[in-house]
Amino acid sequence: MADKPAFQKCMNVDCGATFDISQVLVACPKCGWLLDVQYEWEKLPLPNKLSDFAKHWATRDKPLDFSGVWRFRELLDFCDDRYKVSQGEGQTLLQRCDGVADYVGANKGNLHLQYEGMNPSGSFKDNGMTAAFSHAAMVGATRVCCASTGNTSASLARYAAAAGMEAIVFVGSGRIAFGKLAQALDYGARTFQIAGDFDDCMARVKEATEALNLYLVNSVNPFRLEGQKTIMLRVLEGLNWQVPDWIVCPGGNLGNSSAFGKMFGELKTLGLIPRVPRLAVINSTGAATLDRLVNSPQTLLRYNGGRFARQAICADYDWQDKTNTKPHTIASAIEIAKPVNMDKCLRALEICDGVVRAVPDEDIMNAKAQVGRHGLGCEPASAASVAGTKLLVEEGIIGRDERVVCILTGHALKDPNATVGYHTGEYDPDHKVKGDRPFANMPTPVANELDAIIKAIECK
Ligand SMILES: [Zn+2]
Repeated sequence: MADKPAFQKCMNVDCGATFDISQVLVACPKCGWLLDVQYEWEKLPLPNKLSDFAKHWATRDKPLDFSGVWRFRELLDFCDDRYKVSQGEGQTLLQRCDGVADYVGANKGNLHLQYEGMNPSGSFKDNGMTAAFSHAAMVGATRVCCASTGNTSASLARYAAAAGMEAIVFVGSGRIAFGKLAQALDYGARTFQIAGDFDDCMARVKEATEALNLYLVNSVNPFRLEGQKTIMLRVLEGLNWQVPDWIVCPGGNLGNSSAFGKMFGELKTLGLIPRVPRLAVINSTGAATLDRLVNSPQTLLRYNGGRFARQAICADYDWQDKTNTKPHTIASAIEIAKPVNMDKCLRALEICDGVVRAVPDEDIMNAKAQVGRHGLGCEPASAASVAGTKLLVEEGIIGRDERVVCILTGHALKDPNATVGYHTGEYDPDHKVKGDRPFANMPTPVANELDAIIKAIECK
């Protein structure tokens, strides 16, 4: 039995079934929709104001106060401290970046980058993984699994190694950046390369989970998203608890946008923020299912208080199958055509008056080069947030004087091939990026001889 005032609830407004916090579920057993973790807030020791969380900094010698997730634990209080599995996640940085502001057309001082690449496994996934593993430990799970484009498997493998659980990872064939695969292998995960893409892996891992009673940590796991909520708390903290005008994040499986919307909805309900920021979710044009459903005149899909045209999503997925339409983008972390959190993302877009855009690989890679050039660096998918911001400023949707936070989801070293490919022009033939590479920084070949080297250095 749960000893916390928290429970799981089906997000289908016509179902609303509730389940104990100790149950292991990735969908409502009654209707198949996604579940949320919900709280009886009145029974929890909530802060009067967000700045009260600062008190945990004074005791950061304690692992849970050091963690950038658990030092906000009053807002995700589903499990007793003794079960929590922490790796010091969430020591991330909200960095003002005027160089990138300039690039996207925003005024100086108005653009911040939330660099989640500083997490232990190098991506935002650790925020969610610490929460999912804490739940897994609470329910006594011993074997954890996921389907992954790379970052989830790296994070899972790391937390499983720390928690002494067996890690089982499904990745697609040829669809994983080497930095990420290297991590999964090094942390000892049993890694299975399925002959298919991410969406195939996701379908198979759900079947395997059921057949073998594994603990699934993909973002269909509602506890994952509880951890990912805290990215927004750290953004607010980085802005001295002021609410920005915009949060812009890449859109793949849509777990982040879903978690961010849930967090802001909760903070507003609890009276801890005066208003919610707007949310922009950025697809790659090579994997733009959300963009298609939200923006194409045929669908114009909106959450509509939970009574949305869910059949439009099924029809889109059927169309993909029938026409053999496969996602294809250099931003492999968002190369996802059937996002598992579609329903929750639509809800987040409603909570945050959100917009959706898709940007081509060329824009993503140019934005990525700018993020790198100004000292942070990120993997390709992360830069979709910057490329999307540029587009939205050009469209006049984001004002030049509005305060924008772009979420950089993963570390620059996650996908070195993409980075070197951009700068040298030698892309993986599968991932040709057309167009100019205005920020390419080519290495210069030079003779093994001092005079030639001096000449090369002085010649700009
Ligand atoms: Zn249900």
